[in-house]
Amino acid sequence: MPSTLNGSCLCGAIGYTVRADVTELRACHCTNCQKISGAGGTVNALVAAKDFEIVRGTPKRYTKTADSGRVLHRYFCGACGSGIYSQRDTTPERVVVRAGAFDNPPPMKLTAHIWTKSARNWDVIDPAAQQTPGQPD
Ligand SMILES: [Zn+2]
Ligand SMILES: [Zn+2]
Repeated sequence: MPSTLNGSCLCGAIGYTVRADVTELRACHCTNCQKISGAGGTVNALVAAKDFEIVRGTPKRYTKTADSGRVLHRYFCGACGSGIYSQRDTTPERVVVRAGAFDNPPPMKLTAHIWTKSARNWDVIDPAAQQTPGQPD
């Protein structure tokens, strides 16, 4: 049985569920993730879209071309601004879910840092995780 992970935004208007074990957890240090988080970037669980479900509320969508040149839809709570997940135009079968909004996470380890070339110099990079200067394939 895969685990069921529940997540929610800060105000609670949006709720979501991931019905899969998270095997890839990536910290993204791209400039867009820095802007949207107001921090060093985002940390995301990579999951299949079929294992992800919004169970409460309707997130708003903001679309921008990412540093990789790909069109990325970012979904967030329109009331409190919390990031919920992102999805690429070209790979709708996958979603990247903001890991900081899980309510009941099991212990997880970062598997990779991406866009390390634009990481802020005060940000922390786990030397045990894989590191990629830009977008991995
Ligand atoms: Zn909210
Ligand atoms: Zn990013």
